[in-house]
Formats: sequence, C-alpha cells, structure tokens
Amino acid sequence: MIYFDHNATTPLDERVLEAMLPFLSTFYGNPSSLYRQGRLARSAIDNAREQIATLVEAPASQIIFTSGGTEANNLALASLVAHDKLAICTTEHPSISESAVSLQKRYLKLSHINVDSQGLITTTTLDQLIINPPDLASIMLANNETGVVQDLETITQQLRANGIKVHTDAVQALGKIPVSFKQLAVHLMSLSSHKIYGPKGCGALIYEKGLKINPILIGGGQEHAHRAGTENVAAIVGFGKAAELAKVELSHRSKKLLALRSQLEIELKTIPNMCIFAENTERLPNTVLFGMPEVDGEMLLMKLDQKGYAVSSGSACASGGKEPSPILIAMGIEPKLAKSAIRISLGLSNTQKEITNFIHQLKTLVYQA
Ligand code: PLP
Repeated sequence: MIYFDHNATTPLDERVLEAMLPFLSTFYGNPSSLYRQGRLARSAIDNAREQIATLVEAPASQIIFTSGGTEANNLALASLVAHDKLAICTTEHPSISESAVSLQKRYLKLSHINVDSQGLITTTTLDQLIINPPDLASIMLANNETGVVQDLETITQQLRANGIKVHTDAVQALGKIPVSFKQLAVHLMSLSSHKIYGPKGCGALIYEKGLKINPILIGGGQEHAHRAGTENVAAIVGFGKAAELAKVELSHRSKKLLALRSQLEIELKTIPNMCIFAENTERLPNTVLFGMPEVDGEMLLMKLDQKGYAVSSGSACASGGKEPSPILIAMGIEPKLAKSAIRISLGLSNTQKEITNFIHQLKTLVYQA
C-alpha cells in the first residue's frame, strides 16, 4: 500500500516506539505514587513536557496532557462560562465546530468567522468581528483538508488588542511548519501526537498563565487538577520523543515534503480541468486537495484503494458522509466540485516514484470514467 494520508494519522517513528517500550513494560509505576517506580514515571512525563515546550516555545508548566487533539479542543472551549461569546472559524475541525454547537445549546453565544475563497480570514471580516467582540475566538493555524495556513500572528495581534482571547488548533501545523506559542501569542493552543509520528490517543492543551481552565475530567489532582485520570505515561513519553525529533528535523522534513508536493502539483496539472484548492495560498508543505468536475471523489477514492493507494476525500473524521466537505463549502466552492475532492497528505517515507506512479494510475482511472 502507498500511504498518502498523513493528515489522518502518521506511522509511529521507530525511535518513538523505542522510547515508549520501557514504559509499557519495566517502568509501569503510577506517576502519582511516591516511591521510586512512581517517581520514574513522573520524571518521564516531566521530560516529555519539556520536549514539547521546546518544540512550540511554550512554558512547560502551562502544558496539559490530554487524550488527543479532540479533547484538547473540547477543553479549550470549556474555559468559557455561561453567557460568554465564542466565535469560531467556519473551517474548524468537528472537535471545535461540534463542541461549540453543543455548548451553544447549553450556555454559550456562538458566531462564525467566515473565510474567503482561499480559506483565509480577511481583514474586513476581522474588523467586523471586533465591532461585536467575542470573549474567545477559535481559529485553526492550518486546515486539515486544504492545508491552508492562516496568518495567525497578525490576527492574534488585532484580536488581543481588542480584548479577545484566541485559541488555535495547531494539530495539523505541528511538525510541518514552525509553531511557536510565544510568537503567535495565542491564549490557548491544541496539539496532537499522532500527526507527528507519535502514538495515537495523546495530545496537549497549552494555556497562557493566569487563564482559568475548567476541567472536563474531574476526580484526581493530575495535570495540576486540569485533567484528572492516571496519565498515559508511555504515550506521553512517545509524544515527547516525537516532538524532540520534529524539532531537530523540522526544516529537513518540510523541505522534503515541499519538493514532493511541488512534483505532485505539477503532475496533477497535466490532467485536464484539474483544480487544486487554495493553490496560490500558503499551505502546509505536505497537503494537496484537488478536484475535477464530473468526478465522484468517494468513488475515485475507492478505486484508488483497490489499486493500493490510501488517500482521503477530506477529513478522516468526516469520511463516510455523502455531503460535500463543509470546508470547501465555506470557501464558496460549488457543491459538485467539492464532492470530487481528494486529499493527498504526504509523509516522510513517500518518494518521487510513488507520486509518478500515482499520477499514472489516477489518469487511467479518470480517463476510464
Ligand atoms: N484538529 C485537527 C485540525 C485535526 O485534523 C484532528 C484530527 O484529524 C483533530 C483536531 C483531532 O485530533 P485527535 O485525532 O488527536 O483527536
């Protein structure tokens, strides 16, 4: 199988597995235990916190480990209280958009921040947002389907100046482009381990000092009482190691991915009527979302699967649905063209040859149809 779906998940780096293994066998102590075995586990967690802090330029003490990006996003929104106003971007992941709707039903006021045809938030939209300012704006750094990267630093500056707190879902950006909590100056940031060659079921929420976090999980003092429950020590160790590797290898990784993406886009464009969404916008170096009028994306995905290619027709979490991608609809793309969308998200093991073979296969399937 040729795996082209690294925004859905990445394979575990062998070096990460190696770091994790002792914590699945020899060092099984509970990090809350006061004796040596417990202290060992505790110090492994503290080390992972430092590794993640180094990757994203954040204070280690402000990092809360969670079960993944979804929980981090849910926890970020839970910092709001009754009658608070929340604004979310229209292209957010369901772990923000659906969580926001659920909170709206209970106690929040919710509004949406529109994007333009390139998936970007415009200055006009920001100016409008400031007229009736929300308490918190949730704006993802990079989109999981299109790969579009927002100019979040500029956006945050403007929102902060107007007393609006900012949360960013940096799950897809992490490990692909530089992500700095300090430089972006956001109040809250969500991360996930399995998008950076770490284990699944582990993530983090980073928060600005002084910000009140309302825990979702209660019943233990773990994570400074922000997230109760015995820590997933091995996964946290793995996340830390994956972060350490991402820090060291980031520039090499993004150069390699960008070269592959450029080749893929050049070859894709030899297919008539090919549309690469947000083509001229800053995007993640590994992500290409494309469509062709008259092609059914789900059908093409299944045919590619039969030929041994793993691709996505959009967000993995939303697959199986027949509706066009809400992200493309938010960008004003025609529903029919949106339904043809196929996402290729490249990873470190992909090669030029795989891309050339893929294009050959794609052409055969498209011309046959
Ligand atoms: N946010 C974005 C942008 C994502 O792409 C994903 C997963 O696809 C998540 C959040 C959820 O992360 P996790 O799978 O760790 O719960």
